Amino acid sequence: MSNKARFLTPALLAVLVGACAVSPTGRRQLALVSEDSAIVASEEAYAMQIGELRKEGKILPESSRVARRVDEITERLVAQAVEMRPATSDWKWSVEVIDEPEVVNAWCMAGGRMAVYTGLIQKLDPTDDELAQVMAHEISHALANHTAERMSVAIATNAGVALAGVLSEDSQRTMSTAALAAALAIQMPNSRTAESEADEIGIELAAKAGYNPNAAVSLWEKMERVGGGGPPQFLSTHPSPANRKEKLAELAPQMMAYYEQARRNAPTRSIARADR
Ligand SMILES: [Zn+2]
Repeated sequence: MSNKARFLTPALLAVLVGACAVSPTGRRQLALVSEDSAIVASEEAYAMQIGELRKEGKILPESSRVARRVDEITERLVAQAVEMRPATSDWKWSVEVIDEPEVVNAWCMAGGRMAVYTGLIQKLDPTDDELAQVMAHEISHALANHTAERMSVAIATNAGVALAGVLSEDSQRTMSTAALAAALAIQMPNSRTAESEADEIGIELAAKAGYNPNAAVSLWEKMERVGGGGPPQFLSTHPSPANRKEKLAELAPQMMAYYEQARRNAPTRSIARADR
């Protein structure tokens, strides 16, 4: 181990031990990256991604039937998300439909920027209740600060590698934080713990927005049945925690009261577009 690495060890350890946050379900999270910096990095990543796709003509116009359907569902969910975490009222909540018929995926970045792919809608053929479960699950990842947590884990892993004294030229290569945020939100798998948490928060969020909690179970059944060009990307970015469907089926009856109440009157919250 070099002198430099030895010198850094206690300081880094202090940071690692001290940097903890608590998720909405009460779980302790590693927080080397603040939520605010995850939001800033995500915003940059989002503008790049969507700008590129727009140039390629791959963003559905907001007047399209599919985009209107997605907007309507998302607006009801965002109203509940803000209710659940009032601090998110100043997030730049927005959703786009990306025209990629082969991609079965959806995501929500830190800060509330969301997207769903036409492949998910065409191949899954979800009911509104099921599509709401997808979006609510994604929103829950953002509400539970999973982006900052995953960025923290990525950084801590690199720090761990450095501390082990195996720091090579190659591992010193750093990714920009925006690129890291984008990769984590769009391509990299969540942990199974984060998945369980997003399932738990998502089904409640959807019920409170007036969407049938039983659709959380049928959604995952449909997701598993989607075949064709291999498993949907959604399943690789959202690895299934043990007994996912059983746990959701157990939670569903507890959510019925929220659902019944919201069906009568579910408020909406208007959302922005990235280019507005
Ligand atoms: Zn997930």
